[in-house]
Amino acid sequence: MILTLCYLIGSVTFILGLKMLSNPATARRGNLVAAAGMIIAILGTIFLYKDDEGNNLHNYGWIFGGIIIGAIIGTLAAKKVKMTAMPEMVSLFNGMGGACAALISIVEFNHFTNSPKIDGGFTLYPPLSRLGNDSLSLVIPHGQLLIIFLGLIIGSVSFAGSIIAWGKLNGRIKDYSFKGQHIFNLILLFLVVLSIVYFLFKINTGFGVSIGETFKVSFFTKGWVNILFYSIFLASLLYGILFVLPIGGADMPVVISLLNSFTGVAAACGGFLYNNKVMLTGGILVGAAGTLLTILMCKAMNRSLKNVLIGSFGGAKTGAAVGGKQQGAYKEISLSDTAVVMSYANKVMIVPGYGLAVAQAQHACHELEKLLESKGVTVKYAIHPVAGRMPGHMNVLLAEADVSYDKLLEMEQANEEFPTTDVVLVLGANDVVNPAAKTDPSSPIYGMPILDVELAKNVIVNKRSMKPGYAGIENDLFFQPKTSMLFGDAKKVLQDLIGEIKNI
Ligand code: NDP
Repeated sequence: MILTLCYLIGSVTFILGLKMLSNPATARRGNLVAAAGMIIAILGTIFLYKDDEGNNLHNYGWIFGGIIIGAIIGTLAAKKVKMTAMPEMVSLFNGMGGACAALISIVEFNHFTNSPKIDGGFTLYPPLSRLGNDSLSLVIPHGQLLIIFLGLIIGSVSFAGSIIAWGKLNGRIKDYSFKGQHIFNLILLFLVVLSIVYFLFKINTGFGVSIGETFKVSFFTKGWVNILFYSIFLASLLYGILFVLPIGGADMPVVISLLNSFTGVAAACGGFLYNNKVMLTGGILVGAAGTLLTILMCKAMNRSLKNVLIGSFGGAKTGAAVGGKQQGAYKEISLSDTAVVMSYANKVMIVPGYGLAVAQAQHACHELEKLLESKGVTVKYAIHPVAGRMPGHMNVLLAEADVSYDKLLEMEQANEEFPTTDVVLVLGANDVVNPAAKTDPSSPIYGMPILDVELAKNVIVNKRSMKPGYAGIENDLFFQPKTSMLFGDAKKVLQDLIGEIKNI
């Protein structure tokens, strides 16, 4: 009864936490609320759970050993990680979730096939005549076996795919594909599904797990069962690797979000298997949230999921797409001129991008905003949904510097306001302001909605060089008559700019 209450509290806090995460003002609290619910559910399970025979959990040393080691590693990793490396960490943590789900399936499968006694999971399977009158056949209930396989496949795909995504984001793994890879992947997936159907069917007809009077699974039969099971496991891992390898680096956030939903579903399988309601609820929530985020990100880029998965966008194109087209000259602007233009503007819109995170210039940016406002300039921020390297990257970055949420405009709102904006200051953004997304059908980012900064009266772009952004393509904006380039590291430039404005 108390355990059910713990699970209810856990489930409710997950839902509340998720709701609170959808607003930057309540997101931190939402995270804590859901974490508190998770702790209650975990401690409730450890101390209050009883099996059918009324036994409590044992192996406390292992359980708390694992919790302590995991908590230390997780805390240190989360505290040390740089904002720019956050997507990598999310990917790695998601991979661990997938691995856990796959391990649960492996452990439970072995539990079924190795157990020498007939217990809850095993049933005597008729017809005995097929196996001989002195034989008994053990079967794993079909539903449970199916759940074990689903957890195994989805968890393994999520684990292997997340590790590849992690390697791609930190540059350790390059894009790779071979001719006919998509067909190969489909065949691999088909074979995995076929093997499971075969397995389920054979188990049903007494294929493997017949036992004699000794109640031991015969060596040959058990070996065969294990070979098939672990082949499915390895094929799933291979599928996860081959599924993510050819996808372009710039699409990794979408892939991570998709894999995240896989992990949720795999965890929900664990909930079914153990009849654990909070695990089921948590898994389903993660699965649903990941799926929704994937859809929203695809919408933000105006691309279908299919196009993301087989479109080979970004990453590998870096460099290759650069310099393909002759560009005109760009013009530079000095710090003092920038200071004058911004000080006498009525409205300034700041467009933050990945470079702002690299330079850790969010505090300097907030200082510039306050300084300009003290001079009567209206300052707002235009936030592109995929600016930076993870969903919400810019929101989190600016929140760190206490920038007020009301100043952050979403893309649609910002695009409405650009025509009445005097100066747009692009800080370390590139792809999200690239007009090629609207004008060049051959561009890899064609169709992605962008911030229409060129509608403003003046555009000042701060970056360190003319190098491309993540999609690896040139940006026409830098060569347009209204645009001026302000080269340098964003933090240094902003600090110097603040000094100049103070002197006006
Ligand atoms: P981009 O990667 O397109 O451009 C960032 C720019 O910042 C670069 O051109 C770079 O130019 C400049 N820069 C880097 N360091 C500094 C610095 N210290 N000071 C000043 N400028 C600097 O970033 P955007 O935010 O415009 O676009 C995000 C891209 O990343 C999109 O293609 C998106 O699809 C992709 N993506 C998005 C994710 C998300 O979920 N948000 C996750 C992963 C990828 P230079 O080197 O010349 O300084």
